[in-house]
Amino acid sequence: MWQVIGQRKAVSLLQRSLEKGSLTHAYMFIGPPHVGKMTLAINLAQALNCQINEPPCGECNSCQKIAQGKHADVQIIGLTGAYEKDEAKKRTEIGIEQIRQVQHSASLPPFEGRYKIFIIDGAEFLSIEAANCLLKTLEEPFERVLFVLLAKNIRTIPDTVTSRCQKLELMPLSAGEAEQELISCWDVEEQKARVLSRLCQGCIGWAISASRDEELLEHYCGDRDSILDIINYGYEERFGYAARLARQFNQRREITLEVLNLWVDLWRDLLLIKTGLNGAITNIDIEEELSQLAREISLLDIRRFIKKIQEAIQNLRRNANPRLVLEVLMMDIPVRKKERIGS
Ligand SMILES: [Zn+2]
Repeated sequence: MWQVIGQRKAVSLLQRSLEKGSLTHAYMFIGPPHVGKMTLAINLAQALNCQINEPPCGECNSCQKIAQGKHADVQIIGLTGAYEKDEAKKRTEIGIEQIRQVQHSASLPPFEGRYKIFIIDGAEFLSIEAANCLLKTLEEPFERVLFVLLAKNIRTIPDTVTSRCQKLELMPLSAGEAEQELISCWDVEEQKARVLSRLCQGCIGWAISASRDEELLEHYCGDRDSILDIINYGYEERFGYAARLARQFNQRREITLEVLNLWVDLWRDLLLIKTGLNGAITNIDIEEELSQLAREISLLDIRRFIKKIQEAIQNLRRNANPRLVLEVLMMDIPVRKKERIGS
């Protein structure tokens, strides 16, 4: 049974291709983090190597080994796992030496299964050299070898690579679907399921992890509190916050971009509340606090500031000076109405 949640379109396409024996040699699964890309890739690897008639059964020796990451013919290549002790920081890209190892391994026949599957987790992190190296393998595929590239978006991946993969887009679930799934399949208590299903924005993997790992949720709430606090702070604290984010950006840019996306989410919630669409907000657990804030900031200011955050994200992606971009953003935070009175 396919274990990925939702994603009926992608699953039925893969299932049909499996039945007809018409799988291509390279797929690219595209979608936001935690939407189910890795689960789908693992399921596909299981289906190709499953030892019973209804693949992927999830129970045979081969399916279990793949799920546990112990199958010799299924390899995951990504940023994690490439961490070396003497490195001051984690890798920021998938390097050419990782892809060369893949090429070598792909040239050898499967060891214990029928197919070799290489899952490239975070194809947008392939260095230019690594992407070019991979391209050669995609152009001259080996028999019984399948590549699955996972990507959040394909903007930064060379066209030469994307054009050689069959692309499948994975869509976030609706809040209702996610809530139902959490309650019925993951035993999450109703109120918690309601909150998590909104916070995850359809990326159910995050909600499942957060329902089991208190720290993950605490971390999320901590980031969110900092953002809400900063609105009340003066320039000194705001610039301190900007400096911390800029330092983080220089080490792990994707984490900083995630924080900025959280800024967008919170201000989008304010916009929704301001226009009376409270039912559509993400952060339902702090609706009251957000409603108070929405009362004190004009609709025009909220709209303008969301645009400013989005511009800041774009500028960071274009390699503008992170400290400058973030300091300017901090200065653009709208003033609360009650502060304006008397000033
Ligand atoms: Zn099986």
